[in-house]
Amino acid sequence: MATISAQSGETLVQLLQRAFGFSSFRVNQEVVCRAAIEGKDVLLVMPTGAGKSLCFQLPGIARGGTTLVISPLIALMEDQVAKLNSLGFSVARIHSGLERAVSRHACAEYLAGALQFLFIAPERLRVPGFIEMLAKRKPSLIAIDEAHCISQWGHDFRPDYRMLGQFLPALRPAPVIALTATATTRVQDDIAAQLGMADACRFVYGFRRENLGIEVVEMAPSMRADFVARLLDQNARRPAIVYAPTRKQAEALAEKLSAMFPAAAYHAGLDSQHRDNVQLRFQQGRLEAVVATVAFGMGIDKANVRTVIHTALPGSVEAYYQEIGRAGRDGLPSRAVLLYSYSDRKTHEFFFERDYPPVDMLDRVYRRLGQAPLHKEEVRGQLRMDSDLFDKALEKLAIHGGGVVDFEENATQGTRGWRESYAAESQRKKTQLDLAMQYAESSQCRMASLIRHFGDVADARRACGHCDVCAPDACIARRFRVPTETERQTARSVLQLLKKSSAGSTGRLHKDMFPREEVSRDAFENLLRALASAGLIRLEELTFEKDDRSIAYRKASLTREGEELPANDPLDFVLPESLEQAVPPRKRSETKRSATAAASKTKSTLPRRQDTSEMPAHAVAIEEKLRTWRLSQARKHGVPAFCILGNQTIRAIAQERPITLEELLCVSGIGPAKAEKFGEEICRICAHG
Ligand code: ADP
Ligand code: MG
Repeated sequence: MATISAQSGETLVQLLQRAFGFSSFRVNQEVVCRAAIEGKDVLLVMPTGAGKSLCFQLPGIARGGTTLVISPLIALMEDQVAKLNSLGFSVARIHSGLERAVSRHACAEYLAGALQFLFIAPERLRVPGFIEMLAKRKPSLIAIDEAHCISQWGHDFRPDYRMLGQFLPALRPAPVIALTATATTRVQDDIAAQLGMADACRFVYGFRRENLGIEVVEMAPSMRADFVARLLDQNARRPAIVYAPTRKQAEALAEKLSAMFPAAAYHAGLDSQHRDNVQLRFQQGRLEAVVATVAFGMGIDKANVRTVIHTALPGSVEAYYQEIGRAGRDGLPSRAVLLYSYSDRKTHEFFFERDYPPVDMLDRVYRRLGQAPLHKEEVRGQLRMDSDLFDKALEKLAIHGGGVVDFEENATQGTRGWRESYAAESQRKKTQLDLAMQYAESSQCRMASLIRHFGDVADARRACGHCDVCAPDACIARRFRVPTETERQTARSVLQLLKKSSAGSTGRLHKDMFPREEVSRDAFENLLRALASAGLIRLEELTFEKDDRSIAYRKASLTREGEELPANDPLDFVLPESLEQAVPPRKRSETKRSATAAASKTKSTLPRRQDTSEMPAHAVAIEEKLRTWRLSQARKHGVPAFCILGNQTIRAIAQERPITLEELLCVSGIGPAKAEKFGEEICRICAHG
């Protein structure tokens, strides 16, 4: 069969067009391809859908010979093989779902040098003689897809992948390209170490999602279901995916939503036919929301998801990023909303304790196992252990090599090394939780935090301009208010104190300022976070070791902006509304009735965003213009919008309409620094507006 191969004198783009039918490279694909073609080892981290496959397929064709592809999921493999076949390449695959004769034929073709791509499942590596067979005719490129599976630090560790490190040397000198959509810097290091490619060129690209506005809202668990219902009540916010932590919660919330629009639950407890049906109906637009446990979304390819909501703190930032990534694939503005509170941490700890029994439990089981196989029920009977706990303990022992369980569930003792391995795994799990909590509590641009998490340090310097930190005004879930005079006063004292002492733990700071808890620690931390969002102080999460325990604390220090703040600056910052008030606006018909009732209650304490209907039309127009201008400034300077001007200040300017700097300085909220920086432009907008 005639196959498509590289021709001499052809440029890479020509090869791309002729062999793959794409008109051009996507951003970053070309540089990766070049490195692989030149024979360098490559570690490529790009999100799902970014086009990683091409980065080994094109180099494979350009280099000639056979590209060996290791891929962990049969479905993914079949899909890729079919695509390459349809493009006219000669491709074969070997995995456990195939007839023996098919696999044998694939081997023969490989050895005859007739293949451009050979896909194999990692468990093949365990088959005696398989690697030796491959090594008889060396591949010209080795691609390892879903490479995070090799790392125990990754979120989808597969023991079979571990063997790759051991077997790769036999297949060298071909360059290796490892590809993954989710790898933190730590996982990247681990992949490189495991695969013996310390000098690999690392490419980490494409984690920024320009059209995704992320919000994180602290909210008591009991309020979340109602909140989600109200949020999704607006048509424009659907289709939506809601991630709930348990099956029960997924069912209950789906039922609640069903009363408003077509919605269904999706979780591992439902039979596969039912699940496929839910997925299909969602895909076709017959369901407008799916409430899922983490199981949902693997194969989902729906471009117009407008909102992704997490009703609880996710177990890891990687999983969370994958899940919110399902919003807005069509490139239109979309939102991701995470609801969490400190109590979520407690829930995770509960599950953690269930899933990771104490070492001495495992030890009891381990010591009971012998060299002769014993049925596991018999072992359990001897130990008089609860069956859930026993099963968990045995499962963990088996994973970490402390026990071997055969297909008839007979168990024998394994090796001693399981303890360190188990301890390391539970520590990793804990760390992932800590990082998820830190992400939720962070006062930095959400998108930038995620990008940094995946190790794209350069790109992480730019704020997104859409999230709750960058653009509080654009929030659909999170609500802010301006501080009261007392809060401003406290903020001033914090800044003064930090000026004197330069830095300190926030606990210490709180004690020094409010020895009798005149302001609660929670409220104080909230205030600090707000000052950090406004760029005036910096908060760092640190730990110190004491009596073998690591104790977390938070350190506050002044930023340069905070240091240089003039004493008479009006201090523009916003605070999250208290949990009870974190409720999205009701629908128009309901607004009038409840607004008056609410206003009489909250007017005196809450300086909220006022209703624009009382303002003259030209002031409304100017306010709009100012807001647009503010957004562009925020983007330009890479800071949150309210660092440019607060909402109240914008409102005040629109009403006063100053056209000279002197007039502008009389507007409340405008100090000399702001006037000097932005005065001219503001006056120009007011004069022409
Ligand atoms: P990943 O492995 O990163 O999740 P894929 O390699 O499966 O992504 O590619 C996702 C989609 O993008 C595929 O449909 C692929 O055909 C398409 N694609 C990849 N590169 C290009 C390109 N240069 N131009 C147009 N489409 C591309
Ligand atoms: Mg892929």
